[in-house]
Amino acid sequence: MRAALRDEEFCVFYQPQVNHHGMVVGAEALVRWFHPVKGMVSPGQFIPLAEETGMILSLGQWVLRTACLQLADWEHKPGFNQLTIAVTGSAKQIYQNDYVERGLRVLEETGANPARLKLELTESMLLQDIEDIIVKMTLLRRRGISFSLDDFGTGYSSLAYLKRLPLDQLKIDQSFVRDLLTDPNDNEIAKTIVTLAESLNLNVIAEGVETMAQRDRLAVHGCFTYQGYLFGRPVPIEDFSLSVFD
Ligand code: C2E
Ligand code: CA
Repeated sequence: MRAALRDEEFCVFYQPQVNHHGMVVGAEALVRWFHPVKGMVSPGQFIPLAEETGMILSLGQWVLRTACLQLADWEHKPGFNQLTIAVTGSAKQIYQNDYVERGLRVLEETGANPARLKLELTESMLLQDIEDIIVKMTLLRRRGISFSLDDFGTGYSSLAYLKRLPLDQLKIDQSFVRDLLTDPNDNEIAKTIVTLAESLNLNVIAEGVETMAQRDRLAVHGCFTYQGYLFGRPVPIEDFSLSVFD
């Protein structure tokens, strides 16, 4: 994997995030590995390995840099300069002592506008040393970066923790969106997450939206930002750029 990073076998794909009018408001950056022999390896296969080996540190830093270079490029392009990019973080990264410095350095070196950068953290990452994480998030947020809680609802976050975390957004996990219309429990959970977000003054986005019916149900619950195949799959930057004005 180390050689793959050096040999530029990794690539960042972008998946649109849209508002209720279907307008693209940003993208999630999702890493892809094009292996010369195996072809495309899915992140589900190599991310756990990267976490285990510690490679996630250099890979994650590379994804962050690539996304920030993209933001810097968009900064002067009308129609693109309002778009945000969400980058998924890993626990190993946030527990590094110099997590904040690394983040700020990438912003400085790339010239990206921090207000356009969103970092996605997962619940499971936040289980240890919450005080340390709050400090780090607060420092980055002061520079304008925002934070979204990925896969929300799948972990065990205590509401007391949730209240203390300096978050901007909750992301409803795709497992709840999938059966939203057929499983009353999932419907109820999605609804509850939206209510929770409202009461904590957070934005909410749903991922894995594949049908209009799911989108409409989410809207009934008060969720107006979406990501999913209905609006676009993760694609190379050239294709993403073309889709923004569709
Ligand atoms: P995630 O962060 O929860 O990303 C969302 C996943 O859902 C992506 O899979 C995306 O392609 C997929 N998805 C989006 N819309 C739909 C939909 O409508 N239906 C369905 N069935 N799936 C949808 P992907 O790209 O294979 O990534 C899988 C996971 O790999 C990510 O889950 C994330 O945990 C990890 N990952 C990907 N890129 C990175 C990265 O740069 N850094 C880190 N640390 N993890 C990453
Ligand atoms: Ca994510």
